[in-house]
Amino acid sequence: MDRVARAARANGRDPAEVRVLVATKTQDLDAVRAAVTAGAGLVGENRVQELVAKAPGLPGVPVHLIGPLQRNKINQVLAHADCVQTVDSDRLAQALSERCVRDGITLDVMVQSNVSGEPTKSGAAPDDVAGFATRVAALPGLHLTGFMTIGARSPDEGVVRAGFARLRGLRDEVVASGAPGTADAHELSMGMSGDLEAAVAEGATIVRVGTAVFGPR
Ligand SMILES: *Cc1c(COP(=O)(O)O)cnc(C)c1O
Repeated sequence: MDRVARAARANGRDPAEVRVLVATKTQDLDAVRAAVTAGAGLVGENRVQELVAKAPGLPGVPVHLIGPLQRNKINQVLAHADCVQTVDSDRLAQALSERCVRDGITLDVMVQSNVSGEPTKSGAAPDDVAGFATRVAALPGLHLTGFMTIGARSPDEGVVRAGFARLRGLRDEVVASGAPGTADAHELSMGMSGDLEAAVAEGATIVRVGTAVFGPR
């Protein structure tokens, strides 16, 4: 949290604009609770199984899914997640929307983009993101709150920052479009233990931090 606040101030931003999400994969519930007590406002789980196991023990704490979601696990996620940050295909978005409409609920979602273009990473290609996000925003049952990415794995900070800047530009474009359902899509979930300063410099509103909080996995 000190690192986030320092990075925010160094870039003329109010530290309160950046929320810390603790990435809690492999951590047990006691460790997650300790991080929340220490001030982390959000919890993020990669695996549906871990999310389902831990979320009931974290009443009042928003839990986000930050890993891939297979459509056969949608029911489990809807029961326990406050936001799915990893919507990256029309098929997944439509399936989520249909299930939410059937259940009479609205789910917060973010569009995941692969801004680095690295083949091992999930997410919509940057060129497709604006169109895709506009379709997601128009679906009933889903509330588009923003955009998520995993930064480039590069020692060159310029390359990492360029990817984050790209996502910010896409966010600005989508919000400015005025398309139905896009008005609240302000969040930029980007930056992890190794690159959160670069992400905050480029406008992150949520950083997802694991190692820097819990130590190496
Ligand atoms: C594990 C994980 C993080 C946190 O990574 P650290 O390098 O441990 O801070 C952030 N985002 C996602 C999607 C993750 O899987």
